[in-house]
Amino acid sequence: MSQITVTLPDGSTRELAAGAPVRAVAEAISPGLAKAALAGVVDGTMVDLSSPLQRDASVRIVTDRSPEALMLMRHSTAHLLAAAVTNLFPGTQCGIGPATDEGFFYDFIVPRPFVPEDLETIEKKMHELAREDVVYERQLWPREEAKAFFAARGEPLKVQLIDEKTEGQREVSCYTIKDKETFIDFCVGPHVPSTGKLKAFKLMSTSNAYWKGDAKNPPMQRVYGTAFLNDKDLKAHLTQLEEAKKRDHRKLGRELGLFTFHPWAPGAAFWQDKGTTLYNLLSAYMREVLLPNGYVEVKTPLIYNKALWETSGHWEHYRQNMFLVEGSENEQLGVKAMNCPGHYLLYASQAHSYRELPIRFHEQTPLHRNEESGVLGGLTRVRQFSQDDGHCFVTQEQIGDEVERMLGFVQRVYRDFGLEYAAKLSTRPAEFLGDIATWDSAEAQLKTALERAGQPYTVNAGDGAFYGPKIDFDVTDAIGRKWQCATIQLDYNAPQRFELKYTGADNAEHRPVVIHRAIFGSFERFIAILIEHYSGAFPLWLAPVQAVVLAISDRHLEYAGKVRDRLKAAGLRADLDERQEKIGYKIREAQLQKIPYMLVVGDKEVAESTVSVRSRSGGDLGPETVDGFVKKARQEVSSKGTMPLGEAAPGAA
Ligand SMILES: [Zn+2]
Ligand SMILES: [Zn+2]
Repeated sequence: MSQITVTLPDGSTRELAAGAPVRAVAEAISPGLAKAALAGVVDGTMVDLSSPLQRDASVRIVTDRSPEALMLMRHSTAHLLAAAVTNLFPGTQCGIGPATDEGFFYDFIVPRPFVPEDLETIEKKMHELAREDVVYERQLWPREEAKAFFAARGEPLKVQLIDEKTEGQREVSCYTIKDKETFIDFCVGPHVPSTGKLKAFKLMSTSNAYWKGDAKNPPMQRVYGTAFLNDKDLKAHLTQLEEAKKRDHRKLGRELGLFTFHPWAPGAAFWQDKGTTLYNLLSAYMREVLLPNGYVEVKTPLIYNKALWETSGHWEHYRQNMFLVEGSENEQLGVKAMNCPGHYLLYASQAHSYRELPIRFHEQTPLHRNEESGVLGGLTRVRQFSQDDGHCFVTQEQIGDEVERMLGFVQRVYRDFGLEYAAKLSTRPAEFLGDIATWDSAEAQLKTALERAGQPYTVNAGDGAFYGPKIDFDVTDAIGRKWQCATIQLDYNAPQRFELKYTGADNAEHRPVVIHRAIFGSFERFIAILIEHYSGAFPLWLAPVQAVVLAISDRHLEYAGKVRDRLKAAGLRADLDERQEKIGYKIREAQLQKIPYMLVVGDKEVAESTVSVRSRSGGDLGPETVDGFVKKARQEVSSKGTMPLGEAAPGAA
């Protein structure tokens, strides 16, 4: 039998008999690795451990420490789910079962819709199959034989999948769990070697689905589950989900009276007074960051002639996401989904010299995107929103300094909100506009800017847009979830399309480079993130109501009203609870509203011209003069303290 040479990640080699399974590589390295092995990566492609090695190759063994492991586990768990369902519900037809960022799902055509108790039964069966530690066996079937087999079993969906996914192949791969009576599924794989590798999984929910997502196709039942590499990770995820549910911005938005929706304005929020206060505070904050630092605020039209969208390329590539309207003279118009093209027209409305650059526009007007109403929910997928949208027009040489300035804003903003974040640089993709030298210079300037700003970053090689490299930022909220917010995107394409220019020192015309940048991203989405990050308990500088005055009885109302007025005159957002309720009830209500401070007034306070200060977390902070409270509150606001005075940070003892 002929020998083949396998090259390992460390550069060393092993000789094996041709046709030996990938598992043999792990065995040749160490018994420990053979035990931990889940799959192999052969010349860059992940395959089953049973997959035969026919020729010289580079091989890496996948264990639970490999980046591929989680998705491999999740997809394998989806098959375990399918095996359990087909065993428990004879006559089930299987659709597809992919791994997702959250776990996995599998679609089935079942004799009757699932009920919650079914999930328990199915999960029990899955654990049973996992405990048996049965092999995921990969079998190669002649294509026509496989099709005939699934057709005879009454699984036309699988026949369709084989047709679509294996055109021109003579053989197709099918996987059994235990044996083909227990479970067989057509799948390209790979999977973990046996069900015993799957321990940390949980079924989450079911929903209605359609084959291929098309309502014209037969209805299916989708079962969602999640799986992790170990129990600890699974538990952490489930705790996070529970915490996320409590913090859900849709729920808190309603409870705190921030915003509401109406079916007649799908995807567009009605901001109530408190929500409007929060929105305006964030708008003012962003202006405070940008306007003293070289930006000018502009306002550009909301609706444009189709000619603009043709020039920008949106008419061709993005029209389905835009609201199109008709003007009075049969003009075809589009409502803006982004500010960029308007900013280009504004820039081009005047001649510019190199001495004026960089020119920095900032705009916060509303944008509209025609999202499908089915995906709308809360503030994270909306049709109407505003961005803290900036466009900077710079020379090629100014890119580095400009980006360093932007990184400074990003750092300042996220620090003020107590959000951790990470930066990633995406570089030149395979298909790109312009010449390599320009890209190299731009990427080098971005790296220098990141380093000078002291900003750690990772590189996503080849993940830039065709029109320029970019830096994206993921923020991590208080419960560890990641959200993509800020972005800094270079653009060499738009200046060409719009023929933007400036006169250089050489008196000749040059093209500026456009840098798109947003720090919040959209205000709506950022507010959703903040609501969940703070769990609705906004720090004092952001709280829509910063303090509420609570009178112990009616005879203290007059004094209480004066206190409220003095707080308002001092620039604090203060309220008075005038209802004839018991003081304990009023305090509880204010706590539920997550108002940072409650100022209780009774006989003693009236006599001594003081207030009794309580923080929302229940702490009694003692008596204080009104001026004394105002002074402390102002200090807290200007320090942007993420936690009010006297309130413990989450997790602190
Ligand atoms: Zn599979
Ligand atoms: Zn833009």
